Amino acid sequence: MNGLPPFETHRVENQPPPFEPRDLWQDDAALREAVRREGGEAFASRLAAYGALAGDELYRIGFDANRDRPRLRTHDRFGHRIDAVEFHPAYHRLMEAAKTHGVAGLSWHQPEPGAHVARAALSYLHHQADAGTSCPLTMTHAAVPVLRREPALAAWAERAAAPLYDPRDLPLADKAGLTLGMGMTEKQGGSDVRANTTTATPDGDGYRLIGHKWFFSAPMCDGFLVLAQAPGGLTCLLMPRRLPDGERNRFALMRLKDKLGDWSNASSEVEFRGALAWRVGEEGRGVATIIEMVMLTRLDCMLGSAAEMRMALAQALHHARHRRTFGKRLADHPLMTNVLADLAIESEAATVFALRVAGAVDRAPRDPREVAFARIATAIGKYWICKRTPAFVNEAQECLGGAGYVEESILPRLYRQAPLNSIWEGSGNVQCLDVLRALAREPETRVALKAELESATGRLPAFDAFASALMADAAATGEAGARALTERLARALQAAALLHAGSPMADAFVRQRLAPGHEWAFGSLSGNEDAGVILGRALP
Ligand SMILES: Cc1cc2nc3c(=O)[nH]c(=O)nc-3n(C[C@H](O)[C@H](O)[C@H](O)COP(=O)(O)OP(=O)(O)OC[C@H]3O[C@@H](n4cnc5c(N)ncnc54)[C@H](O)[C@@H]3O)c2cc1C
Repeated sequence: MNGLPPFETHRVENQPPPFEPRDLWQDDAALREAVRREGGEAFASRLAAYGALAGDELYRIGFDANRDRPRLRTHDRFGHRIDAVEFHPAYHRLMEAAKTHGVAGLSWHQPEPGAHVARAALSYLHHQADAGTSCPLTMTHAAVPVLRREPALAAWAERAAAPLYDPRDLPLADKAGLTLGMGMTEKQGGSDVRANTTTATPDGDGYRLIGHKWFFSAPMCDGFLVLAQAPGGLTCLLMPRRLPDGERNRFALMRLKDKLGDWSNASSEVEFRGALAWRVGEEGRGVATIIEMVMLTRLDCMLGSAAEMRMALAQALHHARHRRTFGKRLADHPLMTNVLADLAIESEAATVFALRVAGAVDRAPRDPREVAFARIATAIGKYWICKRTPAFVNEAQECLGGAGYVEESILPRLYRQAPLNSIWEGSGNVQCLDVLRALAREPETRVALKAELESATGRLPAFDAFASALMADAAATGEAGARALTERLARALQAAALLHAGSPMADAFVRQRLAPGHEWAFGSLSGNEDAGVILGRALP
């Protein structure tokens, strides 16, 4: 019967081969070049190893960690309160791989020039396989410099930075590797943390916390940096999960959030019922203390969104190169070529800008200009890269047609994840207002921006004109115009980063993204660019 086995009605044809395994490091020329340019080359072999792992095992098990979502167990079978979250084993494997490879601590346990850049690249690679675990990983990484400010908490900082994952619910003394979370947002206020009502009452050498947090992600972490009202005002404190004597600390997980996405990560609501915590920084300086952590988590939001774009782009290219319609490969239809090239340009612009900021964070201890650049570019990039991602992922999803709307492709998961980075760690408006604040109160940030843009001039007249008009506008923008200004700053900095990189994407980016009156849907490039070069570079 036509050579078909019995009961089969058709041959499966015109479907792409599986996406994985892929080498996420070797595939990504823009990432490799950016790591070299920003000073992380010494870590290239480590990154190569993680890129291969992330594009194979971690990519595969990421599906399991997101399908079997974390479950809250408030009590054990005997009725004792346990406040524990159960995860699929894949979650723990993802955490173990990330922690041991340095995703959460390389910058601190191997503190040499370039380590922040390499850690940023590790985070970008990991996030492509699973975004949910990035939350505890980034919080653990970002809490370390804050904890280091308190000599009494040195062991917490050291074990958080250590390349070890230990999910056991034990006190500090029994663990060599820790994870850390963060509790700021309350019911009555998230952006406006000064509205926090949780109290911290002095008790011996610590404080007792009474109150709640409305969003409290990764609640199985070993410790949490929380904000609470102490007698001297809003204060940052470290709250352990287990007390030094091994007893459970006095806080209760009320429920897990039923979230749009971010499914492998548990986000809870919590009540503090006299929980013990230790002060970090001075009383009344809570925001100033925790901001150091928040600056680093905001950088990871940029990196994470750039990673989501990158994975979505790779999926779209993979599909379009294998799928045929109307007698041709999808990738060879001129309009699809335009869409893919436009996506490739946006993705590379996000990646090089995020890595440029990581490079500034890396050089900051040795270069005050980079302190100022990281300060303002983090807010600019957090706003714009995260804002672009949902539209980007939707467009990449559409390249797969109906298959992109089906869970077995990673696209629905990426699509659900995409809005999150623009909401948490300071939502869009908060970032834009922060840009205005920095420009007004920290003149060195304006100097750093100007220098960054000027250093890329002289190559493309369209860029030069855009950059000089922009710096004039930056001087006279009010609150209502903060988004427009921040977006233009972001596009200019992305163009500058592409120009510095000598990227073949730079010319098309400047012509399309900086031109007045350009179209906004992806796939609106002029047609003058060399799509073969762009797409060949985007994915070999
Ligand atoms: C999945 C998930 C996990 C989270 N995990 C944590 C966690 O672990 N720890 C934690 O502390 N928080 C966490 N959050 C909370 C998150 O950080 C906050 O939701 C976020 O900071 C916004 O605060 P809010 O929800 O109170 O919104 P609001 O502060 O009410 O803001 C609502 C909107 O108004 C805008 N806005 C606010 N002020 C102004 C202004 N002056 N001018 C113009 N616009 C303004 C904001 O940009 C935002 O778009 C999590 C959130 C999510 C979704």
